[in-house]
Amino acid sequence: MQFVSRHEWGAQPPATRNGRFTSLRPGRVKGVVVHHSAVENGPRGTAAVVAFEGHHLRKGWDGIAYNFLIDETGTVYEGRGWEARGGATKGWNSKSISVCYTGHGDAKPRAKVLESFQIVTNAATQRFGDHLWLSTHRRKGSTTCPGGWLGDWVEAGMMVDAAQSDADWAGIAAYFHDLREQITVSPLGRWPRRRRGDAVRLVQARLTARGFKPGRADGVFGRKTAAAVKEFQRSQGFLKATGVVDVHTFSALFIQ
Ligand SMILES: [Zn+2]
Repeated sequence: MQFVSRHEWGAQPPATRNGRFTSLRPGRVKGVVVHHSAVENGPRGTAAVVAFEGHHLRKGWDGIAYNFLIDETGTVYEGRGWEARGGATKGWNSKSISVCYTGHGDAKPRAKVLESFQIVTNAATQRFGDHLWLSTHRRKGSTTCPGGWLGDWVEAGMMVDAAQSDADWAGIAAYFHDLREQITVSPLGRWPRRRRGDAVRLVQARLTARGFKPGRADGVFGRKTAAAVKEFQRSQGFLKATGVVDVHTFSALFIQ
């Protein structure tokens, strides 16, 4: 993965009185929000990043609004970076890291782009903690950003092993939607009967991916899985530690 720092792409100094961006308080960061350019056949590579900066400065903003940007080849650019508050997601800038794809997210980006999204997200998790959720601008405001394909992929959990495949992300998003409905009616747990099946397997895999220890993803809701669910619920703060995957826990686990 190629990384281009602000200095390397020739960023303007922050347009603030003291020449610094407002700092981001790490303890407040809850998630990563994905954006796209919404421009088809727009500028590419560094030119796209510079164009964004110009656009944002002309709006009277302090500088380029995103914390990071990823171009059509998967190169990652430092926007405001990890330590400054972004300006791209109204209402969420002090609580999230915003990452923008400089292409249009309606079409599936190259595998390298998806890998870079995963790398940046993993880096964010390492930096701010396992509690981070993954979301899209369209879930945080009235916009279609980051486009259909990219939005569905992110909301389906930006799954690591599927990045290279031609997975049908719209189908997967629909599947998640159905699963959520099912769980609303019938939460997953050990009681009144031990739940088994794909939904349990998915929960186990997701818990593992987020650093919890539910044991092997065997699709059986056992003691270890319940303990890992409890630990996840405690880590969230706002969930009751029941060890049962109800719809709130499911949403916190996969989407936000
Ligand atoms: Zn956006």
